[in-house]
Amino acid sequence: MHKEKVNLLGFSHESLVDFFQSIDQPSFRAPQLMKWIHQRGVIDFMQMTDFSLALRNQLSEIAEVKPPLVDECLLSPEGTKKYLIKLDSGSMIEMVKIPEKKRLTLCISSQAGCALQCTFCATGAQGFERNLSAAEIIGQLWLANFHDESSPPISNIVFMGMGEPLLNIEPVMASISLMQHQNAYGLSKRRITLSTSGIVPEINKLANKTDVSLAISLHAANNILRDEIVPINKKYPLEELLDACKNYLRNQSKRKTITIEYILIDGVNDSLNHAKDLVKILKGLSCKINLIPFNPFDGCHYLRSQESNIYKFKDFLIKKGLITTLRITRGDAIDGACGQLVGKLTKSVKGKNKKNSINLINTR
Ligand code: SF4
Repeated sequence: MHKEKVNLLGFSHESLVDFFQSIDQPSFRAPQLMKWIHQRGVIDFMQMTDFSLALRNQLSEIAEVKPPLVDECLLSPEGTKKYLIKLDSGSMIEMVKIPEKKRLTLCISSQAGCALQCTFCATGAQGFERNLSAAEIIGQLWLANFHDESSPPISNIVFMGMGEPLLNIEPVMASISLMQHQNAYGLSKRRITLSTSGIVPEINKLANKTDVSLAISLHAANNILRDEIVPINKKYPLEELLDACKNYLRNQSKRKTITIEYILIDGVNDSLNHAKDLVKILKGLSCKINLIPFNPFDGCHYLRSQESNIYKFKDFLIKKGLITTLRITRGDAIDGACGQLVGKLTKSVKGKNKKNSINLINTR
């Protein structure tokens, strides 16, 4: 009977050591294979010339290294590049490359769709399909580094694409271990940010599992409003969430701050009273605030805050001593908010419209 090949792309160092031991190979094969895959971008065993021919043949028979497929790619005028990625199951996910002055950040997905239904989010509006495997998560970084050879390597990772990473914790942790491993991508803990909408029990366990940066998708500073726009707040209210953040910091001796993400939506959460509430609830938490003007998408009735309100909000926080940055909105032209491209394509296919009506660049 035909046996399915095991995909080694998402295997951590420890799992690869076990794998090689199971085929009577020494453990040093694990770092050798990791370097081929994650540092040189080689996924064909026959090209791995420091393995004997017999081992290359054996690996080709029982295993594979299979990244997901780039289906479409969109480039914004500012250089942000958004990829639509097709998984084996047919599900679509997104990842975004964001060039900045001294870094190249990759925003990656941890789930296909999302169950949490935040009201301002295009992914939430599509519902949940499934969790991604470690191979599908690290596969996004592999694609970002090796699919487009002219691009420099990714320097920073943010888990801010589709899905809630803390609801898919084991594959997310396995992929983070590869991101950090010296024989893979070698990224430091400061260059990886896990962003959560507030899964309190998982935040409480997180300090024992990782030391990467943590970001909270807060978006509201009182429970009534947060219950409405980030519905997971009904289960894990603000007080519990902020306590969990403080615990995380307490257990990270050298980590100084948590990032608070706050999307500014016109007339919903962008008044000076909202800013005052925010100052009040963040008292005692070592944090920096990232303000993000809302990026409107089809079918959503919210609007981006007026520019004057955005600056009043920001200036008030700064005056109160909070480190605050305003994220320049990038990628409007390519449906920059997570989930928007998948949503548009899904509708296109269902409605039999032409995909190229949104100016897609096919990279295959
Ligand atoms: S904002 Fe994040 S957690 Fe909320 S629905 Fe969107 S993907 Fe899910």
